[in-house]
Amino acid sequence: MTPDQLQTEVVRKYTEFVNPYLAKLMNFAGFGVEMEASGCIIRDQDGTEYLDFLGGYGVFSLGHRHPVVIQAVKDQLERMPLSGKTFFNKNQADLAEALAQVTPEGLQFTFFSNSGAEAVEAALKFVKGSTGRSKIVSTHGGYHGKTLGALATTGREKYRKQFEPLMPGVEFVEYGDLDAARAAIDEHTAAFIVETLQGEGGIHVPPHGYLSGLRERTREVGALLIADEVQTGLGRTGKMFGCDHEGVSPDILTMAKALGGGVMPIGATSFTAEIGEKIYKQNPLMHTSTFGGNPLACAAGLATIRVVQDEGLVERSAEMGEKMMLGLREIQARHDLLSEVRGQGLMIGVEFAMDEVGELAIAQMVKRGMIAAYTLNNPRVIRLEPPLIVTEAQIDRALGILDEAVTETEEILAAFA
Ligand SMILES: *Cc1c(COP(=O)(O)O)cnc(C)c1O
Repeated sequence: MTPDQLQTEVVRKYTEFVNPYLAKLMNFAGFGVEMEASGCIIRDQDGTEYLDFLGGYGVFSLGHRHPVVIQAVKDQLERMPLSGKTFFNKNQADLAEALAQVTPEGLQFTFFSNSGAEAVEAALKFVKGSTGRSKIVSTHGGYHGKTLGALATTGREKYRKQFEPLMPGVEFVEYGDLDAARAAIDEHTAAFIVETLQGEGGIHVPPHGYLSGLRERTREVGALLIADEVQTGLGRTGKMFGCDHEGVSPDILTMAKALGGGVMPIGATSFTAEIGEKIYKQNPLMHTSTFGGNPLACAAGLATIRVVQDEGLVERSAEMGEKMMLGLREIQARHDLLSEVRGQGLMIGVEFAMDEVGELAIAQMVKRGMIAAYTLNNPRVIRLEPPLIVTEAQIDRALGILDEAVTETEEILAAFA
């Protein structure tokens, strides 16, 4: 089979058996078939190399196939990949301990699952179960997953409408508006759920004091604070956790994307001893998952935390993020089509001054060997989340490609004007 035939076959099967409309969308952006990856590079069916500056929406913080994580998973694979479910599992014990050490103070126990949405589902059950309250306050543009419970807290009409009624009792306020949050959080509120930097909503960094203000208000009325760090966790924003930018300790912190080291899927919900007491005392099996906390995923998680620490990836994220932000601001100054560059660490958004051009610009980048994506809840914003191991040379190359892609997008728009 030639590479062209392989691509045709895969696209045909997507169209016939997976999702025809998604197939069309991916085809338009110019994506081929992924075959192989390492570090910051993905190779397609032709052997063409792409700089991965999307990083799986934050999954590939360690890059693709980090050797330490691969080895840990291989070792476990040879011994016992999945849990027998009745014995103690050492990997789960070790990872839960490591998470208690690296997460903000007070987060004691961890429930393991397989994805970000599942981590949020657990958080929602824990806050309702432990407070006896049912009201949840979330943010417009907030993204917490697409399963029914998580979706009820996801702040975008487009993904919710067709499935209503969703879980009742959820209210939305503007992200970053502390006064609005204060007014919405009351004695009936079980929890405020918030991303420490709004990702899918368009890469919005909250004003300083927002997170600590939320912490203060939730405490005042006996409500809980859920920090959804599924995307921001483990160094992405230049701190180990987004909460660390303000020294805030939430009652519950969710993680997923980067935790599996880009090798295994895993979700984790860390919470206080107080919540643990209220949920588990009456029934240790109150919330469970067959595959959650499996030995392979936990081996990957443990190796990931070690790599993040040993390779100084949190500091690296802050440093490389600053370099990239500077370069992007220079590019922005040369293009009227770009209205803003914002972000924290290596979680960066580039906003276009017009709707519907993000997709066009991304197609231009793909053509030149670089992968980026727009944000789910805000198609005006291109998001850049390269692996934290990205080199300065790779950043320079990506900046050059982005500059050219925006120039060509402007030329295409001018031709149509
Ligand atoms: C991606 C994401 C989720 C959902 O995770 P899935 O693994 O896709 O279910 C939840 N919250 C945030 C902040 C995310 O970025």
